[in-house]
Amino acid sequence: MSISEALKARNQGQCELCNEAAATIEYTVSPKSDEPANQVAICSTCESHLADENAVNYWRCLEGSIWSPEPAVQALSYRLLHQYQSTGWVSELLSSIDLDEETVRWAMTAYEVAAVHKDAYGNTLENGDTVVLTQALNVKGTNFTASKGTVVRKIKLVSDNTEQIEGKINEQVIVILTKFVKKG
Ligand SMILES: [Zn+2]
Repeated sequence: MSISEALKARNQGQCELCNEAAATIEYTVSPKSDEPANQVAICSTCESHLADENAVNYWRCLEGSIWSPEPAVQALSYRLLHQYQSTGWVSELLSSIDLDEETVRWAMTAYEVAAVHKDAYGNTLENGDTVVLTQALNVKGTNFTASKGTVVRKIKLVSDNTEQIEGKINEQVIVILTKFVKKG
C-alpha cells in the first residue's frame, strides 16, 4: 500500500504518530473527507493500536505527535489521548497543550452521540420520510392552517436542531416541530 506524495512529504515518509516506522497507511480523521489535509500518514503498528482500548502505554508516542503543525495529526492525537484522560501523564499532557478550538472539536466528534430526529412517538425520522401532522398547525407567516392528518412528503431534517424538520404544505416549505408529527 502506498501513501500520497503530499502526505509523504509532510514527515519524510515516517509515521506521523510514532515517528518510528515508515508510514504505509493514509488514515482519514473522521468525519472529514479523504484529502491530505484531513489525513494522517501512519504505520501498521499504530494502525493496529487504533481500536485497542488498553493501549495507553503504546500511545506515549503521542506526546510528540500532538505538537505536529498538522491539524489532522493534532486532532487524531488528541482523540486517541482523550480516552485515557484519567491517566496521569495524559491529563498533564492534555492540559499543557493549546490546540485550536476547531481542532479539538474535530477530535471530539468521535465521542459525540449522533443527534437523532424523532417523531411524537419516538420513531427515528430521516430525510425523505413521509410524516402526518398529529395536530392542526397554524403556519406562521401564511394564511392557512394545516389540519391534523395532513401528509407531508419528503421531509428534510433541520441539521442543527433535532426538534425541527422542514416540509412542504400547500407548496410552501415550512418548519415543523417533530413533536407534532408521526412517521407515515
Ligand atoms: Zn506509527
